Amino acid sequence: MAEKMNVESFNLDHTKVDAPYIRLAGKVEGTQDTIYKYDIRFCQPNKAHMDMPGLHSLEHMMAEFSRNHHDRVVDVSPMGCQTGFYLSLINDDDYEGVLRLVEKTLEDVLQAEEVPACNELQCGWAASHSLEGAQEIARGMLEKRNEWSTIFQTA
Ligand SMILES: [Zn+2]
Repeated sequence: MAEKMNVESFNLDHTKVDAPYIRLAGKVEGTQDTIYKYDIRFCQPNKAHMDMPGLHSLEHMMAEFSRNHHDRVVDVSPMGCQTGFYLSLINDDDYEGVLRLVEKTLEDVLQAEEVPACNELQCGWAASHSLEGAQEIARGMLEKRNEWSTIFQTA
């Protein structure tokens, strides 16, 4: 890559990663606290992506349910390329704990009977949701749970 970019993931060679995976993508230290940002990659870049309604519902559920398991979630937000999410935590660099947090959160998604806050009062595009789509994405990710810590292609 020619030039070092400001954004950590712009310096990541997306042709070399092996999705699904979860990796620490950034760390910002304040005066007292440190924010850890994780790249939760569901789909192989430039090979697959999540459809918007399922992705959007998954975002609502991960944002809501993850906080039932962790009290220091700063943010859960989808990538614009629709291949994954960023999860930011404050003062938590326990990688295995993050894997367990994502696992528990996705298990909640499979149990959900409705998408939280998918209405015009609480969401900016309430018509674009799919519970089934989100559950299909979550199921596929959970089936590959043992691959999450392998970030790069080995061969
Ligand atoms: Zn929404």
